[in-house]
Amino acid sequence: MAHVQRMSTMMLKTLRDDPADAETASHKLLVRAGYVRRTSAGIWTWLPLGKKVLENVSRVVREEMDAIGGQEVLLPALLPKEPYETSGRYEEYGDLLFRLQDRKGAEYLLGPTHEEIFTLTVKDQCTSYKDLPVIVYQIQTKYRDEARPRSGVLRGREFQMKDSYSFDASDEGLAEAYRLHREAYTRIFARLGLDYRIVSAVSGAMGGSASEEFLAPAAAGEDTFADCPSCGFAANTEAVTAVVPPVPETEHGPVEELDTPDTPTIETLAEHLGVPASATLKNLLVKVDSEITAVGVPGDREVDLGKLAEHLAPAVVELVTAEDFDGRPDLVRGYVGPQGLAGKAFRYLADPRVAPGTAWVTGANKADTHARNVVCGRDFEVDEYLDVVVVEEGDPCPRCGEGLKLDRAIEIGHIFQLGRKYADTFGLDVLGQNGKPVRVTMGSYGIGVSRAVAALAEQTHDDAGLCWPREIAPADVHIVAAGKAQQTELALDIAQRLAEAGTRVLVDDRAGVSPGVKFTDAELIGVPTILVAGRRAAEGVVELKDRRTGEREELPVAEAIARVTA
Ligand code: ATP
Ligand code: MG
Repeated sequence: MAHVQRMSTMMLKTLRDDPADAETASHKLLVRAGYVRRTSAGIWTWLPLGKKVLENVSRVVREEMDAIGGQEVLLPALLPKEPYETSGRYEEYGDLLFRLQDRKGAEYLLGPTHEEIFTLTVKDQCTSYKDLPVIVYQIQTKYRDEARPRSGVLRGREFQMKDSYSFDASDEGLAEAYRLHREAYTRIFARLGLDYRIVSAVSGAMGGSASEEFLAPAAAGEDTFADCPSCGFAANTEAVTAVVPPVPETEHGPVEELDTPDTPTIETLAEHLGVPASATLKNLLVKVDSEITAVGVPGDREVDLGKLAEHLAPAVVELVTAEDFDGRPDLVRGYVGPQGLAGKAFRYLADPRVAPGTAWVTGANKADTHARNVVCGRDFEVDEYLDVVVVEEGDPCPRCGEGLKLDRAIEIGHIFQLGRKYADTFGLDVLGQNGKPVRVTMGSYGIGVSRAVAALAEQTHDDAGLCWPREIAPADVHIVAAGKAQQTELALDIAQRLAEAGTRVLVDDRAGVSPGVKFTDAELIGVPTILVAGRRAAEGVVELKDRRTGEREELPVAEAIARVTA
């Protein structure tokens, strides 16, 4: 028998006003409807209603992971630092890692993800090819000291993740484990009622299927994905490679200096010279592990500093400050050009559009002066090409060349063919069929369980509040007792009968709360079916309301029960 949740005794306080710091709908509504409360920045308490929803998501994930042969385990969240030192991630993670010491001064971390420990666990448990393949997973609390823990549970510093890992003796085995996960994820997100897209998470150069993300389109998302309306190509913009048009063979004139007073920005320069911003070369100066480095990109493009940092990791990337120009007369702020300096005064990184043979207007390394006809390969060399500019709407599709569409989305899952990286690090071999050791190959697969709750709230809410699909909702039906004793009696009687039929019921039997407040709360809480014991309770007639469509119908009790349990 399902349990009746009575609002008269439940620890639940809904709020009329949005929390002051909330920007996203899911953050506002999950707090207002009493699902979660902020305990500290990026650290959340799940209250009774919220815990139910979180459990429902976990159950769906668990069922589908079990269905592909996943074995559930639970690793610790408090981890010794040594395996992460061995893999190099203790360093690489930098500030994202929560680090701590025990009473003896031994160092630990709170796990951000568990590749290292799973590899060691499998090394301990599996010794022969006969022990493989293995898919192991856990649903567990993860810790990441995120720089900007905004948006409520969408980006927590403590959050729930399902992480699974596959171990195989062959590449074909890994491909199969990856395929199984891809299908399981498809079923999970469909059951959760999420609208999602599967997009490539790595640039084409690394091969199409090695890593894909499951993205839930939503304005509150922090990821942007590119979608090609022409060929169906879809990728996280982080994985879109620049398409460089062929460079025509042209004889360029010699470098020519131009007097350009008061033009320290691309906009002022382009206007002064009457050229498009795309004809200018912007040189962004950064410090890479304290070394001054320049990044050359067409003047109409923005550098994505996150992408840049990722490319150069574990080196630390910082923007230059005024002090960095002290004692560097060769670097004229606002008028830097690569000619004469690239590869000498600084390492020169550039966007692939700054291709050999292209000519640019750029800084002349003199105050108030620019230079024209500065040709790549003739007047300067690029040390390294990097895909670090922000992809823009209309950029050519890397597959077919048509203009890309851009949309915001929330990353809800990520599947990744890791290969032998961790097996190499930890020497994970099994005895092969021929008696020789075989190096194991591995996949890693994540789902943001707590983030999925927020993603679902983002996609399904309306002006009145949350609006859950039934499988995920904290109850199947929300019964409102309008207020009079007889109405409450009927509401509780129906609640009992529904519970006996296995239906999950939330009943608003609070005394002294006006019907108006109860109706508003029911809309806010977002259970898909609302049953009202009101005006016609004495005749045994109740009202059924569909939370999503707002459709309402008056029905005799027996019929209403039949409808809800159907
Ligand atoms: P993001 O780019 O959003 O920081 P990520 O790529 O670093 O995420 P993964 O390491 O791929 O995250 O983790 C697997 C899944 O865990 C993600 O797809 C996401 O759904 C979830 N997740 C990651 N970070 C957080 C977080 N801070 N709060 C809630 N969920 C998260
Ligand atoms: Mg990811």
